[in-house]
Formats: sequence, structure tokens, C-alpha cells
Amino acid sequence: MFKVFRIFVLLVILAVVASTALMQRWQAQSWRRTQVITVYPINLQGDAATQAYIDQLGDQAFADIAPFFQAQARAFGLPLSTPVQVVLGRSMRDLPPPVPTQASVLSAMSWSLKMRWWAWRKTPPSSPVPDVRLYLLYHPGDFNGPLPHSTGLEKGRMGLVHLFASRAQEGPNQVVIAHEALHTFGATDKYDPSTLMPSFPDGYAAPDQQPTLPQDQAELMAGRIPVRPNEARMPASLAQTVVGRRTAEEINWLRR
Ligand SMILES: [Zn+2]
Repeated sequence: MFKVFRIFVLLVILAVVASTALMQRWQAQSWRRTQVITVYPINLQGDAATQAYIDQLGDQAFADIAPFFQAQARAFGLPLSTPVQVVLGRSMRDLPPPVPTQASVLSAMSWSLKMRWWAWRKTPPSSPVPDVRLYLLYHPGDFNGPLPHSTGLEKGRMGLVHLFASRAQEGPNQVVIAHEALHTFGATDKYDPSTLMPSFPDGYAAPDQQPTLPQDQAELMAGRIPVRPNEARMPASLAQTVVGRRTAEEINWLRR
């Protein structure tokens, strides 16, 4: 009798977990109403210059993102006129759990759980209620070398985004924010992880163009503009970026 009861309880928990995941997926991909993306600035290294940058941050630092998604969605015929709204949330002092360095399934799963637990406890309240929460990890504007990899989680609808605390970098910063945001809607990367080169054809803004290279724009989920067979450059802003056909299918802007 007791065993039957235990199995019943486990089945109920499983059903709740499965239906929550389905609900989240449905909400992320139904595009029935504007999705609120709230961004929370965090001073990763705690230095004064980064703090001064964060203190002066306003909506204008993120102003290109919503119009970009609006124009891209319209090109794919999405009926919803304003797919996303970006809201600047309060800055945070607590750092998120560090992303595991070795890529095992188990460490990724345990990090994803820790990350969601951290987000649940530490995220400051904001209005309107966020659909997607992106934690912006600012590095000093004169930081040398490549930034750590940003991460967008479809499950939990949140992401960690590494950025430069510099006004001059706000164009490329918004490309990275838009890229991680689309991961939370189910989009996948479209570049080769070992070389970072955009994959053909899905990672090209204009795959049918002749000759194929150089391209003028980047596909958002490839993140770079391929210019030569082994060379790609970062787009300066979202104006040099498009959402490709395959990405539009993944986020349910286009029927497959
Ligand atoms: Zn990515």
C-alpha cells in the first residue's frame, strides 16, 4: 500500500515537471503577446569604472533590440507587431554560480539547477513581470582578450551574458544580448564551436548570394559575418545582423 502511494506521488511530481516544461516552451513560442526580457546588470570584477558605467546605464543602451526583433519578425510575417520588450531591471551584487569548465552532461545539469535556484532567490522584483531574465555580466571596458562564453538557457528562460562596460561597445553588446535572448526561445547556435566560423547555409545572412563570400551581414545565431573561408568578423551593431530562416523556424516565427 505504502509503495503504491510512493509511486503515485512520484508520478504526480513527474507530471508536474513535464507539464511545466511544456507550458514554458509553449509560452516561449506561441508569440501571442509581447515577451518581456528583463536585463539585470552585474559588476563582475567589482571595479569602480565598471560600477560607474552601470550606474549611468539607461534604456538607450538596449534601445536597438526591440525594434530589431520587430523588423525581423515582420519580414517573416509574424502577426504580433511587438515581439519583445526590453526592460532594464535593478543592478545586482550577487554573482551567479560559475559555469562548469569541463563539459559533462552531469556538471551541466547540476549547474543549470544551481543557476535556477540562484535566480529564484536573488533576482530583484521588477514590473512588468519578466518572461526572460538575462543577467548582464559587465567586464571593465579596457578588459583585454576574449570574454568568457555567454550562456542562454531555454529551460528556465534565462541567460548569462558577458559584456564590456563601455559606451563604444554598446552596438556589439546588443548583438550578444539578442543572441542569448533567442536561445531562451529555442534557437540553436549556427557556428562551428572549434573555429567559431558561421556554418553554411544556416549561419549565413544571405546563403543564396553569389559569390557566397564575403557576406555583408551576420546571422544572429552565428554571431559573425563570414568574409573569407577562414575569417569572420563581429558585427558592429544589430543593423549588420539578421535572423535567418532556420532560426525563425526554431523560434516558431515560421512553420517548418
Ligand atoms: Zn549561442
